[in-house]
Amino acid sequence: MKLTGPFKQIVTLANLPLRGKLSDDKLEIIENGGILSENAKIIDVADFDVLKTANPTAEIENIEETQVALPAFTDAHTHICFGGNRANDFAMRNAGKTYLEIAESGGGIWSSVQHTRVASEDELLKTTLERINFLISLGITTIEIKSGYGLNVENELKMLRVIKKAQKFTKATLVPTCLSAHLKPRDFEGNNEEYLQYILNEILPKVKEENLANRVDIFIEKSAFQPEESRNFLIKAKEMGFEITVHADQFTPGSSRIAVEVGAKSADHLEATIDEDIEFLASSETVAIALPGASLGLGEKFSPARKILDKNGILAIASDWNPGSAPMGNLIAQAAILATFEKLSTAEVLAGITFRSAFALGLEDRGKLEKGKKADFVTFKTDNFQNVLYQQGSLKAESVFIDGEKI
Ligand SMILES: [Zn+2]
Repeated sequence: MKLTGPFKQIVTLANLPLRGKLSDDKLEIIENGGILSENAKIIDVADFDVLKTANPTAEIENIEETQVALPAFTDAHTHICFGGNRANDFAMRNAGKTYLEIAESGGGIWSSVQHTRVASEDELLKTTLERINFLISLGITTIEIKSGYGLNVENELKMLRVIKKAQKFTKATLVPTCLSAHLKPRDFEGNNEEYLQYILNEILPKVKEENLANRVDIFIEKSAFQPEESRNFLIKAKEMGFEITVHADQFTPGSSRIAVEVGAKSADHLEATIDEDIEFLASSETVAIALPGASLGLGEKFSPARKILDKNGILAIASDWNPGSAPMGNLIAQAAILATFEKLSTAEVLAGITFRSAFALGLEDRGKLEKGKKADFVTFKTDNFQNVLYQQGSLKAESVFIDGEKI
């Protein structure tokens, strides 16, 4: 048994509901707190001295300076396995060039596909682990990672194998998702429906066979896959036993409705979701995932987080870290900025990057500091937890604990 503390404050997030709006007076804050853990799980969170007296044999991990502790964060939507770099896309877009002009000059998503295809597994593993370590340094210990820059059997499997291999080198929990339906690759001979059928026939059975992912994602958008072909694809993927998640309503509305109708775990993006569909989504079990990093990367509006919460939806916030539209990767900064634009309470933001985002990945064993949960937590050198969001990502995590152990 191990007792970590004392902390000036522990923000447990215990007893907060899975859905709907939250006011900050609902936050449980334990002053002079300690976290008692054993075998990777939390045994108790309470006053440090009380825990110490009651558990005299517990090993003490002493926290010397004034620090606060929070549940470690979950980033439920990333594309951090990729080759190449698209800094020139960013510069061109900001200089007023169109999507088509950027694509014609060798940029766009196809550029990431080409760079990812030529990269070796070792190269991809190295850069993916560097990005994982950056996320851990922010206090993120659960990370979803998508394929989607391979776009053929060989390279989609390569990406997913790299993600699987990366799990051997990190204590963070990695959750792989097959996003072969990111867009139809330029070199595929056939239409969209034929490409989706190719994924169902050629890619997904191998993903299952090698146990590379149990989640399937699709980008439903005018420039990618159309609503009805996507619905058919998702129903079939679900029949094969995959969990579903959808890139929905980024530029045009309608696809969040499909996500809900097929029983997706999450509908992500939602920048263009219309009010009627917000209500439909918010009354479902599908998690709405806001991706402020994509809004910041593209200069587009933010996802309607406030409306989703007010309609009693389940709101999570993720980074969408990718080389094109969301290159920043700093979920804490992005969540804090989303809060200022969407008027989110501190409790709503913290819930959105902890237990609510973990729920979107089917992981209900984490994201709160309470008995029985996974002992993943992050500490900050400050006397007030509000500083974490107030400083908009510039207050760095002091220590990150996974399974009760400092890493
Ligand atoms: Zn994405």
